[in-house]
Amino acid sequence: MANYIQRPKGTQDVVPTESYKWQGVEKVVSETAKQFGYKEIRVPTFEETGLFVRSVGDTTDVVQKEMYTVSATGDSTFTLRPEGTAGTIRAILENGILNQGFPQRVYYIASCFRHEKPQAGRLREFHQFGCEMVGTASPSADADVIALAKSVIDRVGLENIQLNINSIGCPECRAEYHKALKEYFEERKSELCETCLDRLDRNPMRILDCKSEVCSKISENAPVILDFLCEDCNNHFEKLQENLKMMNIDYSINAKIVRGLDYYTRTVFEFITTDIGSQGTVCGGGRYDGLIETLGGPKTPALGFGMGLERLILTMEKQGCEFLPEESCDVYIASMGENAQKKATMLASLLRKDGTRAEYDIVGRGLKPQMKFADKIGAKFVIVLGDNEIETGIAKLKNMKSGEQIEIKLDDSFVENFNTYLMAELVSALGLE
Ligand code: ATP
Ligand code: MG
Repeated sequence: MANYIQRPKGTQDVVPTESYKWQGVEKVVSETAKQFGYKEIRVPTFEETGLFVRSVGDTTDVVQKEMYTVSATGDSTFTLRPEGTAGTIRAILENGILNQGFPQRVYYIASCFRHEKPQAGRLREFHQFGCEMVGTASPSADADVIALAKSVIDRVGLENIQLNINSIGCPECRAEYHKALKEYFEERKSELCETCLDRLDRNPMRILDCKSEVCSKISENAPVILDFLCEDCNNHFEKLQENLKMMNIDYSINAKIVRGLDYYTRTVFEFITTDIGSQGTVCGGGRYDGLIETLGGPKTPALGFGMGLERLILTMEKQGCEFLPEESCDVYIASMGENAQKKATMLASLLRKDGTRAEYDIVGRGLKPQMKFADKIGAKFVIVLGDNEIETGIAKLKNMKSGEQIEIKLDDSFVENFNTYLMAELVSALGLE
């Protein structure tokens, strides 16, 4: 083992040769969100601990065992965000965004932190693309939010991702359900894990989300919430399904989905893949009509989802999806001799100001290694400058793909001529001639 400090367990480095994958995904994600009417929101990476305890809920895995909490020198404690919704809603309230008309739609790409046992698709620092829609109780909003997640999944090229939906009702119908669940689990109390014993009294539905083998086995035959929905919740669930059908979005109803966070009401959903092992939930979300009030705001219905980008990218790799290609260098200006080196610096600088990806030798290498380097970085064109070119003011511009060479003047017309040539090449490459 090398003797330098290693990265913390459960974190990842995205190295330069891989970052184009992230950039491509982030581009798809933000462009799709904008197309659906969302604007980006950016909030702090840490918040007062109480914000997460109140919103995520103190019977959840996240609050009970996964939060990174630090105490600063004062009396407050802060927690690195374990998810994106709480901070987003806090910011929406704090910035008076609820007064700016409904619905409000925001999205974010943010790192989240949870102290979990690291494994493939389960990290301690991970990244979520999240979106929140605030100010509508309509089931068509639920379908619209699901449609956004589905669009992203389709556009990055993923296949075979199952959409599971469920309704976990409202506080009224859930009270009845809790009673039935409690009775069911009470009889099997001796087998439940310690955490779930505590949940039995405080929030029995949480047991359904327990990852322990024994508890999930017991949960299999537990009463299902759908049998307990009140008329309004039932109608909402029906309308959601009508809308999904209208939009041609396939789904299955899965009564086992209750979601890991406390704030959900009515619609909950997950997009699941079987391609990356047991951590197959790529995206999870739902409606949280009570949350804004819980956080001290006016009663306002809202909903959203979080999509785990590591899991998304892992699934893309497993399925062999294509990532948006990285743009490579347009032109490399090689040079021999001091004068040519100066000219290369000047010309590259002019091209860059004009928006071209231009590179030149900054190592002081000979011509051969320069050409090798140009090849390595995938330069589309190469110009070679030597004493002769400086003297005549004319150089050769070589198309590295076709091998074709043209002469280009190194005077004031250089940038314009280069662009004209580049454009002509583009047109012919696209077969538009
Ligand atoms: P899980 O059941 O897998 O623990 P969760 O219910 O805790 O997921 P959410 O809180 O709903 O997850 O987060 C939304 C999404 O964020 C998940 O669907 C997943 O894609 C991703 N995610 C959650 N926790 C992690 C993690 N530790 N590492 C990587 N991605 C994660
Ligand atoms: Mg979890």
